[in-house]
Amino acid sequence: MSKITIAIDGPAGSGKSTIAKMVAERLDFTYLDTGAMYRAITFLALEKGIVDDEDAVNKLVDGLEVTLKYSNGFTSVFANERDVSEYIRSPKVNSKVSEIAAMSFVRKELVRMQQNMGKVGDIVAEGRDTTTVVFPDADLKVFLDASVDVRADRRYKEYKEKKIIIDYNDVKENIKKRDKIDSSRKTSPLIKAENAIYVDSSELSVEEEFEILFENIKKKINFIKSQNNQ
Ligand code: C5P
Repeated sequence: MSKITIAIDGPAGSGKSTIAKMVAERLDFTYLDTGAMYRAITFLALEKGIVDDEDAVNKLVDGLEVTLKYSNGFTSVFANERDVSEYIRSPKVNSKVSEIAAMSFVRKELVRMQQNMGKVGDIVAEGRDTTTVVFPDADLKVFLDASVDVRADRRYKEYKEKKIIIDYNDVKENIKKRDKIDSSRKTSPLIKAENAIYVDSSELSVEEEFEILFENIKKKINFIKSQNNQ
């Protein structure tokens, strides 16, 4: 059977990662967290103190290889084999990642790496442009959404669980800021692909959200199988 690509996009806190992981695990597909790659570059740029200098960031990215390893619900991210996983989800990285992700050379390089990862086999990719730019021919495209309040609540809860002390309003403001930059940037903004399934999870539990999507995915996979058998 030909390989299957499922692409899921949506704003921060829409449930993309949770749902993409659940789908990948249920189907035994590779899970590709594209946001982790933008976060890795942001962490390195912060570490070098070059986050506001696009030329310096371009130099940093040139020749850098970002790779991902997923196991037991956790994505490990490597920048030229250095494991940066534990640093990429900090509030500091959150506050700068959308600016780094708006840089076109950064996007060009990461999209190239993501497309290479997608050649390996069946995958579930998630991010902001996986349905539109990285895998425009994906077999199934999904746009997940939720209200800003619900998304901020979810993120705040995650921080609390990780024992990170942060103000709720800062979490909400960061989400709003990222929404704005991610949706209005020139290069591959976050938009719903024309043929993507739209799910608003504001009023849904994770299980309900998963069931809705998984029904669609099963239908699609059966359709692909029947086409392959013809
Ligand atoms: O999905 P996550 O919240 O980890 O993504 C972090 C940031 O990386 C996003 O806010 C966005 O700026 C950027 N991103 C992107 N394109 C992707 C994935 C993430 O621009 N495909």
